[in-house]
Amino acid sequence: MKLDSPLRAGEVALVGAGPGASGLLTLAAAALIGDCDAIVYDALVSDEVMAMADASAEKILAGKRGGRASASQHDICETLIRLARAGKRIVRLKGGDPFVFGRGGEEVRALASEGIAFRIIPGITSGIAAPAMAGIPVTDRSVNATLAFLTGHEASEKSRMDWKALVEAFPVLVFYMGAKNLPDIAKRLLDAGLEKQTPLAIIRNATLADEQTMVATLGEAADGSITARSPSIVIIGDVVAERMNWKDSI
Ligand code: SAH
Repeated sequence: MKLDSPLRAGEVALVGAGPGASGLLTLAAAALIGDCDAIVYDALVSDEVMAMADASAEKILAGKRGGRASASQHDICETLIRLARAGKRIVRLKGGDPFVFGRGGEEVRALASEGIAFRIIPGITSGIAAPAMAGIPVTDRSVNATLAFLTGHEASEKSRMDWKALVEAFPVLVFYMGAKNLPDIAKRLLDAGLEKQTPLAIIRNATLADEQTMVATLGEAADGSITARSPSIVIIGDVVAERMNWKDSI
């Protein structure tokens, strides 16, 4: 099977929609979005991408933005199973890449346990795309040989993470879902030994018309003198200083 071959009746494609700009969809994603019976999409999927959808396809917003209870995840799986059993050709469309902080694993496990055919189409994840839009190389030979992707939810009081070990192993940190907890993230990193002057960038709505980039320091993020709004990628580390601004941004 080729990734972009037409879906069969009762098949689900778990598709990465990329960070927002329709030009960053994969060819397989564009082909499947444009030829299916139903699209079950997350709130993070851009209007621009949805505009490429098959006009006759049923569009179902699965929306779980803000991390609602797992009951809604259950509902999404039930919806996919119901549509598949009805013989529909289904695209399950998720922002970025479906397996990067996207709960795609849970959905394919649910499908597999019901014997439903599925395929997986990776997408460009926002943790890669957002720094690129801001002109920040996520790896730079002079700065880092490792790179960590994290969820900002880890900065909550229940954090199980060893922050000292984290900053020792990873000179560059890319946080998803980090906007709300930004001051807590910054404080934990300072406590773990990072300098107040460590540069960070916040990139909001990356690849979309209203994309915004803000560059600041870890100290400023910790004391609340800068804030971030969702959806933003926060990248922390000396690669931010290697930034080549190739777009007009604020
Ligand atoms: N699976 C997605 C991530 C889902 S978690 C992916 O691979 O990109 C949701 C988080 O993704 C948001 O809180 C934000 O941190 C990030 N995100 C998604 N799209 C974004 C965009 N266009 N610009 C900035 N951040 C984005």
